[in-house]
Parts: sequence; C-alpha cells; structure tokens
Amino acid sequence: MSKQTAAPTTPATSSEVPMHLFRKAVEQAALAISITDAHANILYANGAFQRITGYGQDEVVGHNESILSYRVTPKLVYETLWAQIQRQRPWNGLLVNKRKDGSRYLADVTITPVVSEDGDTTHYLGMHRDVTEVHRLERQVQNQKTLIESVVDAAQVAIVLLDEKERVVLDNQEYKKLIGDLGKEPALKLLAALREQMGDAFATAHDKHRNIAAREVCIETPKKMSRWFSCAISWFEEHDVGADAFYEPLRRHYLLLTIQDISEIKRQQEALRINSLRALLSEQERIQGLRETLAGAVYQLEGPLNMLSAVANMMERKRDSGADLPAASALEEAMQKSREALEKLRACIPNQSTEAMQPVDLNEVLVDVLKLATANLLSTGVVVEWQPSSDTATISGHPAQLTNLFKQLVTNAIEAMNERRGGSRELRLSCMTRADHIEVLVEDSGPGIADDLRYQVFQPFFTTKGAAKQHLGLGLAMAQEVVNRHGGIIDIDPAYRSGCRVRVQLPYLAGGNHV
Ligand code: FAD
Repeated sequence: MSKQTAAPTTPATSSEVPMHLFRKAVEQAALAISITDAHANILYANGAFQRITGYGQDEVVGHNESILSYRVTPKLVYETLWAQIQRQRPWNGLLVNKRKDGSRYLADVTITPVVSEDGDTTHYLGMHRDVTEVHRLERQVQNQKTLIESVVDAAQVAIVLLDEKERVVLDNQEYKKLIGDLGKEPALKLLAALREQMGDAFATAHDKHRNIAAREVCIETPKKMSRWFSCAISWFEEHDVGADAFYEPLRRHYLLLTIQDISEIKRQQEALRINSLRALLSEQERIQGLRETLAGAVYQLEGPLNMLSAVANMMERKRDSGADLPAASALEEAMQKSREALEKLRACIPNQSTEAMQPVDLNEVLVDVLKLATANLLSTGVVVEWQPSSDTATISGHPAQLTNLFKQLVTNAIEAMNERRGGSRELRLSCMTRADHIEVLVEDSGPGIADDLRYQVFQPFFTTKGAAKQHLGLGLAMAQEVVNRHGGIIDIDPAYRSGCRVRVQLPYLAGGNHV
C-alpha cells in the first residue's frame, strides 16, 4: 500500500533537489552539455551534444574536446580560451566545429571551470549551441547592408537619410560633394526650400509620412550662385530593435531624400527659352515693322490723294457751273484707281498679334530683356545696373509685346552710347511699383535727346541717325504703340541731363486693379 506523503509547503533548495533530477535536467537540456576532466577529455556528453555533433556517447567519452576542432579556428583563440579557464574564469566564444560526418558548424561555446573545495580545477563544464543559422542571417544582413551602402554610394544622385529629428543617419558620396558646394547641411536647406514652396502640403505630407514626388527647388550657394535641384522624399519605417520593444513594437520613421542636381538642365532649358523668345520677338518685330511701314506708306499717300481729291471737287463744282473741263473725268478715274491701290495696300497690312492678355511680371520681362541683350552689352562694354522692384510687378498685358518694347528701349540705349566715343557706358534699368501703375526707367549715359526732338522721336519714320545707317525710325513708334495698347504712358524725361531717360508707366490692369 502506498503511503501518502505530504507535499512540501516551501520550495526545495538545491541541496534538497535529488541528484537524479540534476542528471535528468542535464540529459534533456536543449543545449549541448559536456563534462571533461582538467585536460578537456570528455567524461560525459548529453543528448543534445550527440544530436548536434553526430557522435554517440561511446564515441566521444575518453576523447579530447579537440575531436570537434575543424582546425581553422586561430590558435590564439584556443590560447585565450585556455588562459581564461585556467584562471578559473568562464570563457565564451565562437569556434568552428566539425561533426562526425565532417560537416562544419559554428558553435557558441561557454566553458566553466569546476573548482574543488581545495581550490583546484578538477573538471570543465562545456555548453554549446549551433549558431550557424544565426551567423548566416547576420552575415546576410551585413552583406545586404554593404551592398546597399555601395549601391547608394555609387548612385549618381545625392541620397541622405534623416531620422525624426532631421539628423543625418546615412548619406552617400554625391551628398558629401553637395556639402562642399552648399555648406552644411544641404538636406536641411533643401527641406526648408521645399517647406516654403509647398506650404501646408509639405506639413501634411511630412506628418502623414507621405512620399513627395520630384520637385524642383532653387538654392543659393554661399558664393551667391543659383543651383537647381530635383528633390524627392520617401519614408521608411523601422521597428525598434531594443528589448523594450520586443513585445510592443515601436516604429521609427526615416526620411529618405534623393537630390538630383539639375542646374545644367535648367541652364539649357533657359537658354532654349531665351532662344525661342528671341525668335518669337524677331518675328513679331518683322510683322510690326511691316505694319508700321505699310501704315506709314498709306499715311504718306493719303496726303497727296486728299489734295487731289480737293482739286477734283473744285473741278466738279466748276463743271456743274457749265465749264468744259475734259481733264476732270480723267482725274476722277485716276483718283478711283489710286483709292483702289491704297485699299489694296491697307489690306496688305498684317494683323496685330493675337497674343492674349495675361498676368505679366515686369521684373521677369526685364530680366529676359537683359538676357536677350547680353551678347550686345558684352561686345559694347556697357556696364549694367539693374534694380528690380521689391514688390511683385505684375500687370495684365501681352508678354511678347512688352518684352519687345523694353528690348527696343535697351537696344536704342546701347546704340546711343555707341555713338559717343569715350566716356562711361552705363545702362540703368529699374522697375518701381507705384500706387496705380508700375514705372520702368531705362537710362543710358549716351548723348541724350534734344528737348525739341522729345516728341518727334515717337513719330513713325523719324530718325536722328540718317538713312545711311539703315534706320527706319520705327522703334520708338512701335514702343509707343505697345504702351498705348496697355493704357500706359511713355516719355523722355526732360530733367535728365546725363544721357537719356525713357520713362514707361503701365497701369496694373486694364480695369485699374492691382493683379
Ligand atoms: P591543442 O593542442 O589541443 O591546443 C591548442 C592550444 O590550446 C595549445 O597551444 C595550448 O595553449 C592550449 N591548450 C590545449 N590544451 C590545453 C591544456 N590541457 N592545458 C592548457 N592549455 C591547453 N575546442 C573546439 O574546437 N571545439 C569545442 O567545442 C571545444 N569544446 C571544449 C569544451 C571544454 C569543456 C574544454 C575544456 C575545451 C574545449 N575545446 C573545444 C578546446 C579543445 O580542448 C582544444 O583545446 C581545441 O580544440 C584545440 O585543439 P587542438 O588539437 O587544435 O590544439
């Protein structure tokens, strides 16, 4: 009959744990456990040891632990191992082991000296586990990291990774070059430019970690040069690797900024735009010139025709009072032919360009004009002083016509300065916003325009240069026409004595509203 024994009320201390329980626990442990004598000769190996190494208990007992050595572990590692355990301190490290079947594995080994009551090391306790797979994964991650870093480094675009506090975590060679060009920290400068350009849209994308497709921003370098960049933002989420976050994952967001320097493309685009603007303007100039020439010719012919018409009327009246005037009908016929010829001439006048009215920034127009005149200004050694308006100088107008207008005034100024030998050659261009209009001044240091010619110069075919220089005298007439079409005023400032100052005043809008 079995006796009932009372269950212990307090947990058993180690001395109370039966020895066979220790043995069972070691035998069944998932860790490879071996016990050796003081020379590493194996006395005992548990089940896990046998599973991992492939050796049965009988095949290892009596053999040295070196049976597991694959001989690629550096000698120094063993020396360190032994030096440590001989000082009666546990040693932990990685060893390349060989199984019975010859296959290798990486063992994470811990060796603990077993010390007798006399203080001598009598045995060693070896514990190890196969960490080949962990090591493979670690290496794989490391290889991928190296691969990603080298791909990122070799990329032709600048790449930078920022943490949530916008600190640089990773960057590449191209980005490092940008630091040299833009100073520290290019990413922050570009993000500030994007913030300014996108306003609330940037804040929303940033807060919600939404990607931002390529956007063009302009940055001024410390050397006051404009550089253009195409910037794209994407986000990636990292799971916190700390122990705290093991069961409650924490996420960190990183901002990946890719930056492509598009300054050269922008320069080419701008050169292309200026070239097409030049072509457009010269075509417009040609048509305008033709219009003015034909209109001028019609105007010139209308004078004598009106006189002939008066003579014909006089003859008609005389014939009505009985006078015999055979030339009258011939004159009438000639006049009819002349009128028809004049009408044909009028019909040949090309139509005014149909360019639509639109908001035009005069600051931009004047910059374009200076770009168009750059070659001319450089070849004539003219020094330019350009003063844009600090406020937006937008009016409603025809952009090409306005560009042509100021181009004409700048060309006139350069030609006037060329007339005078010696002396300074200064062109001053300024744009100012007034209460109800924008004023543009084109000043040159040329000979100026005499007071009595101030109004005449705006008449068609009037020129101070003479026919020899192939000047039709239509430039200022055309300028006048463009200004009229925009409801503005153009005049020559009589008070200006150190050359010529042409003043153009243009209202903000045809209706008088500021655009
Ligand atoms: P060895 O000639 O055995 O030793 C190389 C160097 O180690 C020597 O130059 C010497 O400096 C030192 N050394 C070796 N034996 C002694 C000793 N008895 N006293 C002082 N110094 C010594 N090795 C593995 O490769 N894999 C294992 O899993 C492994 N587990 C071990 C478990 C335990 C409990 C112990 C005590 C040792 C273990 N070793 C293990 C170490 C092993 O005993 C050998 O030292 C090692 O394998 C190198 O063997 P070897 O024949 O190349 O060189």
